[in-house]
Amino acid sequence: MTSLEKFLGTILGVALGDAVGAPFEGTPASLSKELVTEKIENLQTLTYTDDTQMTLDLASSLSARSGFDPNDVVQRFLTSYNPARRYGQTTSTVLQLIKDGTDWIQASKQVMNGEGSYGNGAAMRIAPVALLYHHDKEKMLEIAKASSELTHAHPLGIEGAIIQAAALRFAILTSPTDFDPAEFLSEIKQVITQEVYAQKINSIHQLLEEPIDPVTIRERLGCGGEAFNSVPTAIYCFLTDPTDFISSVSIAVSLGGDTDTIASMTGALVGALTGKPALPEAWLEKLENRETIERVAQSLFFTHVKTVLGHRCEMCLSQEGIKAYKIDPAGPDNVDNYILLCARCKRESEEEEKEFFAKPRKHGKYRAVYRKAHRRA
Ligand SMILES: [Mg+2]
Ligand SMILES: [Zn+2]
Repeated sequence: MTSLEKFLGTILGVALGDAVGAPFEGTPASLSKELVTEKIENLQTLTYTDDTQMTLDLASSLSARSGFDPNDVVQRFLTSYNPARRYGQTTSTVLQLIKDGTDWIQASKQVMNGEGSYGNGAAMRIAPVALLYHHDKEKMLEIAKASSELTHAHPLGIEGAIIQAAALRFAILTSPTDFDPAEFLSEIKQVITQEVYAQKINSIHQLLEEPIDPVTIRERLGCGGEAFNSVPTAIYCFLTDPTDFISSVSIAVSLGGDTDTIASMTGALVGALTGKPALPEAWLEKLENRETIERVAQSLFFTHVKTVLGHRCEMCLSQEGIKAYKIDPAGPDNVDNYILLCARCKRESEEEEKEFFAKPRKHGKYRAVYRKAHRRA
């Protein structure tokens, strides 16, 4: 499993979960998991909603700005806004206030009687933050909070995004065969400060021991648009079958309520753990704008590589015009197999390589040696 496959799996998981959940939004918990899977398979096209659009906006901004730039993110939210994607009421209100000239810092605090929103709008779009900063937990939590505050200023709205980010981070860092649900839940508990989340996350262990009953899950964990009624629910759905996308996501949809967001957050967790290869190809084929979604994920992966490697040429330390190159072209798409070079150092290293090797050898091998020598220096 490569790091790039995890980036693709997570962002495609967001979009696919959202798109299969969307047609079921607001339904009561009366459908079985099997019936849901069957109904999804009968859908001709899978159209995503605001969850995916805002995730793509945030990811694109993080890549374009090489990190979190609140004004750029807000601009992208405004440019992409399309009521047909069924944006949440408070998010729509906040975006309208900003469009009318209110500073976003004020706008996100003005809604919900001045307390800010605790809807799940910040949690549903958090995947790009978890991906970009999964190597640096403190930074990830800081940006998770800051990116939430753009539209969801209530502590419960922010904490929902922080919990989903911590959950995604654990899944990104873990191989599917090593995944331990107890370890996963204890990692999540470390970021919880609010009682409602503590109580619900604590109850998941017990719920997993019982047969899956949509009515009980709705009662105990919730299935609504509030962050505390959807983030713990998505975590539960993921844990019912962490490596089986169709099963976990179908359970999320079978609960009814805010199906697109809960299925999207569930799908993101499965995709983060298993990577793209385990996502159902038959569903992906029907997903709207699949190529664009994959391009956004790929670009975020390269931004991650550059972030980890320090945004500078590893030879001359220049920050101008740097690009990530694979050390071993046949090797995996992991940060360890990349080097950042400016155009001049790339050219020079290629010329040196020609001189140094009388007979042709693999470029990658030379660069790996060269890089090691440089790092020692
Ligand atoms: Mg939605
Ligand atoms: Zn250089």
